[in-house]
Amino acid sequence: MNKKTYNIVLLPGDGIGPDVTREAVAVLDLAASHSGFVLNYDEQPVGGAAIDQQNNPLPDAVLERCTGADSVLLGAVGGPKWDHLTGAMRPESGLLKLRKALGAFANLRPVSVPDSLADASPLRADAVRGTDLLVVRELTGGIYFGEPRGREPEGDHEKAYNTMVYTTPEIDRVARVAFDWAGKRRRSVTSVDKANVLVVSQLWRDVVQHVHDKDFSNIALQHMYVDNAAMQLVLNPRQFDVIVTGNLFGDILSDAAATLGGSLGLLPSASVGGKVGLFEPVHGSAPDIAGQDKANPVAAILSVGMMLDFLGEEKAAEAVRHGVHEALDAGARTADLCREGHRRVSTSEMSQEIQRGMTAFMKG
Ligand code: NAD
Repeated sequence: MNKKTYNIVLLPGDGIGPDVTREAVAVLDLAASHSGFVLNYDEQPVGGAAIDQQNNPLPDAVLERCTGADSVLLGAVGGPKWDHLTGAMRPESGLLKLRKALGAFANLRPVSVPDSLADASPLRADAVRGTDLLVVRELTGGIYFGEPRGREPEGDHEKAYNTMVYTTPEIDRVARVAFDWAGKRRRSVTSVDKANVLVVSQLWRDVVQHVHDKDFSNIALQHMYVDNAAMQLVLNPRQFDVIVTGNLFGDILSDAAATLGGSLGLLPSASVGGKVGLFEPVHGSAPDIAGQDKANPVAAILSVGMMLDFLGEEKAAEAVRHGVHEALDAGARTADLCREGHRRVSTSEMSQEIQRGMTAFMKG
């Protein structure tokens, strides 16, 4: 029988992007070798790397490869070398274009704090231990894309503006993603908005409530203002199961949630909604530690765990998560998380520890 084959486009990008992507691919290869599927990789430049090679942060040919793949794995883009660039020439604009082209309107960012990481948080261990939440961030609308936008002279000064805009279908579809996920989890959704001030949030709230009442009345729904949500995330993160929110609020809240586990280097993400999923660590290109074998590969490795889930390879995905927990339980820590009593390891050593845990799981 022919083995199932998945075509994966690899976009390592800049800074630590290539460091962590390399380890994520090693983990994917190990998962495939034990699970009976085949992975074909197609590595392409994006961000600064693509600007250097082709003067474009997302060349058309690369975008075409991505839209024709089964999944895309991205490392990170950007860095000081390209900071002087503006507008469509910036590395990040390649990423925004890619998300939009893939129709990836929902960004899933799981944050969990197992016992082994509770002491890494800047918050009290007893407040964060056992946190297990999923932020569903709307990704292709809202103020990051809204028109009109601009900066222009006005009398003797300047004015600048962006527009936060959402339509009913945009809110409806991301709300459904959140309710679907809640159904597989603890059946609770918190929708975050600023409906006491913003008209766009009033529509957001109405549509989320409508989708709930019509099709998901078996899921608990609460609405929360974004300022309160920021406070509650820090005070009592365990109260949350699934959080659904717009692009801007989701960007900020998911980075705040990132601190719960102690490092950005732990957080994976999946951007879904279209035919092809985009999987990437939440962190950026961390130019301060790039190329030094110091970066934490866990976020990228958990991102390919999410990719395997989306490809329908749930057992392999579970092996990845198990490997990460085993490595952390055994005290292995990259520099970003290392405290007294831990074993400090490099990027590649952390990955090897994770692969050992995966192998034991897959053989067991
Ligand atoms: P960053 O996430 O790159 O780094 C923030 C801090 O976290 C740094 O101290 C860094 O060393 C540390 N860090 C991040 N990831 C880590 C990891 N895996 N292991 C260990 N430590 C890690 O954010 P920044 O410094 O604000 O941005 C740096 C560059 O990355 C900028 O050019 C920015 O535009 C870009 N960026 C890209 C993305 C993306 O590609 N998705 C996201 C955010 C920022």
